[in-house]
Amino acid sequence: MEYKNRLRIDLHIHSTASDGSLTPADIIDHAQKLKLAAIAITDHDSVDGSKEALQIGIPPSLHFLTGVEISAAHPPFFPGSGSFHILGYAIRLDHGDLNQTLNKLQDARKNRNPEILNRLNKLGFQISLEEINQEVAEGQLGRPHIAYAMLKKGFVESIDEAFDRYLAAGKPAYVDKYRIECEQAVNIIREAGGVPVLAHPAILNIENDQKLDALLQNLIKIGLAGIEVYYPGHSPRQISQYRELAGKYGLLMTGGSDFHGSLKPKIKMGSGSGDLFVPYNLYEDLINENKRSFRD
Ligand code: AMP
Ligand code: ZN
Ligand code: FE
Ligand code: FE
Repeated sequence: MEYKNRLRIDLHIHSTASDGSLTPADIIDHAQKLKLAAIAITDHDSVDGSKEALQIGIPPSLHFLTGVEISAAHPPFFPGSGSFHILGYAIRLDHGDLNQTLNKLQDARKNRNPEILNRLNKLGFQISLEEINQEVAEGQLGRPHIAYAMLKKGFVESIDEAFDRYLAAGKPAYVDKYRIECEQAVNIIREAGGVPVLAHPAILNIENDQKLDALLQNLIKIGLAGIEVYYPGHSPRQISQYRELAGKYGLLMTGGSDFHGSLKPKIKMGSGSGDLFVPYNLYEDLINENKRSFRD
């Protein structure tokens, strides 16, 4: 048993079904080359990446979890701008309500792109939707694709710079979009037989430990089942704090790189910015819990 925990997994990966640059087939190949023991494809507001992976077929040496990363609104007990990401694992991909909800979120992302480009044009950056669409064969065009186009046209020196100066919340080319309520995101994941998990808590910039504690308690009340403990940019202190909180509240722990391929060039699958290690037992805990209490 113990040896298994030396095996590495990655439960947060984006494919071409959202804003990753690798197809599900490429992701499976790459995960095998890296000798990862388990992966999950967690596209923004889409299960198409997970669907495609299962259609291609998962090699016997790799374990696979279906996944999604839902862009929810901040819950009323934790107000804020921008998205509040809820991961869903081991979801039924054909669930009607889930697919309908995801379609709405995909439309919201698509509908705001012209306005983002309009703002960039006004700021003096000549860049058109057609140009970017040519690069995005499948999946959903979003801000990372726009940032990548700005980089290629020499308007910025990195994708991060495009976000930091123009595209991030509060910056001049930022356009808000429709999001579902956080509680609805948690519910729909559960209804689809899945495990709802709070994504990358450190990104939320929570002011202090009491606020984090209160946030988790409130999220658990609305049905949250897990917390993403291992994530690039989570400090050792944060990791041990999240582990402790998971123990205190009986939350499942997950982790992953948030791999996006060339759209987040510093992040590697399986190892994040170099020191990420997500142990295999988290995958086992997740499927065991899912079998025990989530499937109907
Ligand atoms: P969208 O769905 O179009 O709003 O884009 C969301 C994506 O943008 C997520 O995958 C994030 O990884 C990426 N993103 C958001 N904020 C930043 C940032 N400040 N720097 C780099 N990438 C970001
Ligand atoms: Zn993304
Ligand atoms: Fe996220
Ligand atoms: Fe992500």
